Amino acid sequence: GRKAFDQRLVVVTGAGSGIGRATARAFAAHGAEVVCADLDLDAARRAAEDIGRLYGTAHARQVDVSDTGAMERFASAVQDDLGTPDIVVNNAGIAVTGPFLDHELTDWERTIGVNLWGVVHGCRLFARQMVERGEGGHIVNIASLAAFVPSRVLPAYSTSKAAVKMLSDCLRAELAGRGIGVSVICPGFVSTPIAGNATYRGGDRALTEQALQRRGYAPERVAAHILRAVHRNTAVVPVNAEGRIGYALSR
Ligand code: NAD
Repeated sequence: GRKAFDQRLVVVTGAGSGIGRATARAFAAHGAEVVCADLDLDAARRAAEDIGRLYGTAHARQVDVSDTGAMERFASAVQDDLGTPDIVVNNAGIAVTGPFLDHELTDWERTIGVNLWGVVHGCRLFARQMVERGEGGHIVNIASLAAFVPSRVLPAYSTSKAAVKMLSDCLRAELAGRGIGVSVICPGFVSTPIAGNATYRGGDRALTEQALQRRGYAPERVAAHILRAVHRNTAVVPVNAEGRIGYALSR
């Protein structure tokens, strides 16, 4: 029978791991053709191969979402090779943990570069394609509960996510009249390799990783929320009802 996302082309950034990989998989399971984009091409390929084996068409692409030129080439290549995507999930993200006083300027540059500029590029390039095509679409940005709750150990990360939340709200208002939905997903702790991939500047690394493992949602649950948000055109989705990420990490 017909599936919810049959005939849909879905781009997911950061699809080589964690929430992005689970999301690409879930869209494919519901009939979509997916583009798994990641900085780590091997990881993107593995994700796409798994999906290909299970559900059908999946593509792997390498891109650094923080790189303006690379994102422009990526967006053009997707459009030329596969067409304008129906759904774009701006998911790629990184974390630096530790107090503000221990953050280097490069920590800010990297965090804002990937988490905010990456989303700006994804929105800008693909929203233009969607507007030009004139058949609507949906953009999903992955922020975090950290966008709402101040933390003593995620200052750059939380700032980047608060900006992603506001960008999403602005874009949602602007694009509503063109049939393009915008959703922002704000998960609490999710069990993914992000804590292991994080840069630690002071703070207790073992405690942070432990907290993430113990408290984490499964990435598949976040993926299910993402699909539902697209289906229902939900504005903001706070995934973890506790809403305590900042406090948990601050103690
Ligand atoms: P993850 O580390 O498992 O996966 C992130 C993926 O993004 C990796 O495959 C990585 O290679 C890729 N990536 C990193 N930098 C990139 C770049 N410059 N260009 C392209 N790809 C890049 O992390 P995750 O937990 O799945 O995180 C996904 C998103 O969810 C992030 O935006 C993160 O901030 C957000 N989030 C995670 C949690 C959590 O607790 N895990 C909570 C809230 C929000």
